[in-house]
Amino acid sequence: MLKISKYTFGVGDRFAHQAKAQLRACMQAAAEGADVVPVWNKSHREHMTVGSKPDAVRAAADAAVAELGWTQPHHVDADHINLSTVDGFIASSDFYTLDVADSIGKPAAAAEVKAFVDRFPQLVGTVNIPGIAAPFEVSREEVEAIAAKYLLAVQEAGEIYRHIELAKGADNFITEVSMDETDNPQTPPELLVILAAIADQKIPIQTIAPKFTGRFNKGVDYVGDVAQFEQEFSDDLAVIAYSIQKFGLPETLKLSVHSGSDKFSIYGPIRRCIQKFDAGLHIKTAGTNWLEEVIGLAEADGDGLDIAKEIYAAALANKEALCAPYATVIDIDPAQLPTAEEVNGWSSQQFVSALRHDQTNPGYNANLRQLIHVGYKIAAQLGERYLEMLEKYEPVVSKNVTENLYERHLKPLFLK
Ligand SMILES: [Zn+2]
Repeated sequence: MLKISKYTFGVGDRFAHQAKAQLRACMQAAAEGADVVPVWNKSHREHMTVGSKPDAVRAAADAAVAELGWTQPHHVDADHINLSTVDGFIASSDFYTLDVADSIGKPAAAAEVKAFVDRFPQLVGTVNIPGIAAPFEVSREEVEAIAAKYLLAVQEAGEIYRHIELAKGADNFITEVSMDETDNPQTPPELLVILAAIADQKIPIQTIAPKFTGRFNKGVDYVGDVAQFEQEFSDDLAVIAYSIQKFGLPETLKLSVHSGSDKFSIYGPIRRCIQKFDAGLHIKTAGTNWLEEVIGLAEADGDGLDIAKEIYAAALANKEALCAPYATVIDIDPAQLPTAEEVNGWSSQQFVSALRHDQTNPGYNANLRQLIHVGYKIAAQLGERYLEMLEKYEPVVSKNVTENLYERHLKPLFLK
């Protein structure tokens, strides 16, 4: 089996121009003593929005790796795919995120639920998990209720897994199961049942992305109870270590945090927890890199700043349509969005201050940042004009991409 490295970091590169800049951040981390393997992730939805093909992600990643002489692994993640979208990713990906969130809550057949719980009697009663203070006390009815909620979703993950296995061979890819894009978080006791069901489906899962407590809005910090998050994250790690032992899941299995990028206030807790359990971690970002492109263009001033302003004005004019697909993962207060006229009067520094994720800067505007985050379709519509700007201002754009990933993400998670 293709084994996932202990620490992996998902980087999205929507316009396929930043792979080298992203890889440089991993090289800096390696030079400082933290081996973090890059995973280029792009979802079917992102490909649709940008008008790109999965092969382009593989080509950009491989070219960057060859050019910079990166000798550690790298992967290309078919992010959030299902049975209807996976085929386009078979040739180019070696990492698959099986998204079965839509099937959570669709009730499984009663007989199958009963048979599953019969096969896993150890889920019922007092379950003592090393690393969790109080044992889980779970009745047979409760286990059946959890199984009824998740069994169909896990069966669907099994179907997608076997479809990929048939096309690629079991040894040639890494499997992740994601359940994050749903309304309710999964509790640690639920995670235990989900992992038993995944083992039952014989999916050699190496990362799992549950939905955690709190708001994970796109491109801005975590909103929620950080202490509660830390407790839940710690308990999830304990459940994973236990499940590897008890259900025979791959020893590389680890948590995947789909964060919507930039959840800086939980990086400390995540770091403490993975140290406590000596656990691995996959953390997935995407939009933070697109935002750094816009910041770089704004910092370049001149026609770079002009196109950044043009993107904001168009995003503002198309706010409803751009926000609709992301309704559950953004919180924009329209009253806090400056008008296009106002922004057109901004200096390079004012624009950069508003957009760059520096919460200590009084000019920072989380509402504007979220709007531009979901506004990448505007840049896709600008087409060649946008790409030419990225190329014209490559040094300042790539500097921002690298610095952001290294200073604000990799360092606090793996080095500080
Ligand atoms: Zn996700």
